[in-house]
Amino acid sequence: MFAWRRLQSFRLVANRQRPAWCVRVETRSLALPQTCANCGQIAAEAHRLIGAGRGLLIPYCSRCAAHLARAVTTSLAATLASAMLVVTCLATLPRLVSELSLVGMLLGVSLAGSFPLLAANALRRRFEGPQTSSGRAVHWSSRNELVCFNAQWANQLAGNSGTTARSCRAAEHTVSPWSWLICALGLAATPSVHHFSFPQLVVLNFSEGPISVEVDGSTSHAVEPTSLESSRAGGKLRLNSGHHDLLVRDAKGAAIEEREAYLQAGRPHLLAVASKDYCFWLERDSYGKQAEARRHFTPLPRGDGFWVLPTSIDSWFAANPTPAQDERSTGGTMVALRHALCSDVPTELRAAFAER
Ligand SMILES: [Zn+2]
Repeated sequence: MFAWRRLQSFRLVANRQRPAWCVRVETRSLALPQTCANCGQIAAEAHRLIGAGRGLLIPYCSRCAAHLARAVTTSLAATLASAMLVVTCLATLPRLVSELSLVGMLLGVSLAGSFPLLAANALRRRFEGPQTSSGRAVHWSSRNELVCFNAQWANQLAGNSGTTARSCRAAEHTVSPWSWLICALGLAATPSVHHFSFPQLVVLNFSEGPISVEVDGSTSHAVEPTSLESSRAGGKLRLNSGHHDLLVRDAKGAAIEEREAYLQAGRPHLLAVASKDYCFWLERDSYGKQAEARRHFTPLPRGDGFWVLPTSIDSWFAANPTPAQDERSTGGTMVALRHALCSDVPTELRAAFAER
């Protein structure tokens, strides 16, 4: 019964707009009422309110001042908890989960960052008796007006300042709206962290039929066979950096290849199944306004079908775009990963592959 009454005393609707009174005040004519800004009773202490380029000392009675102090502490604790959870989420998710999409990571970070802030708002203590606010009874609006929840106090302030209090609606924020900036920063950093911590593994299948790739004995990814180059060929996985057990099965479920692969953070990787007759190379195209477009070839070593690629790839299994002929190109380079049967590689590469 006590717990139920306790729950009833909490406000479960966060940041609900409710009636308030807005007063536009000038510094030279500002004379604050001496009663508690929350309940209107005799004030015992003053709390600094900073905003609009100035600091005001708002009077509160002992009881309302205690509630305000608790609200400020709750806001600070919620903000710190939000920041710690966002950082923890960004740092540990790539270690805890072997496969996670960018959408999944964005969802995790937003939930972790917003939970303490929403909880602080939802569990806000309800004001009682003559009180008009559960914490701060006066705050600055974005229009540089003082927003008051106590009508009598607002009218007295307006009268002292030679102005009038106008009726408005305002939300009582348990946590500062700036606290949400932490969530926004965490979300902004998530794509870069995800790109670095979950390096890409592209799987090409040169066998006769479809294959499936099991990652660490759990998730399985189907990959259709490839013979010719196509930017849509292969399976593109995002796995966390570190060691992974990869088991390749054919359409009948028989294991045809098993290996332990080490994925490096921030680097792309290529797994080419049944690729002994194929050669791979990087094509780096330079674009410039003045300089003539140049193409540089780098053959990948003939290996066992797994490569940690030395650079990020702009064009997978397709040539880079041809340079614009109108001399409006702003320059830069693009890297393409290409493949062909070793008997069909471009002339420029034959000697390089022959040496390997
Ligand atoms: Zn009070």
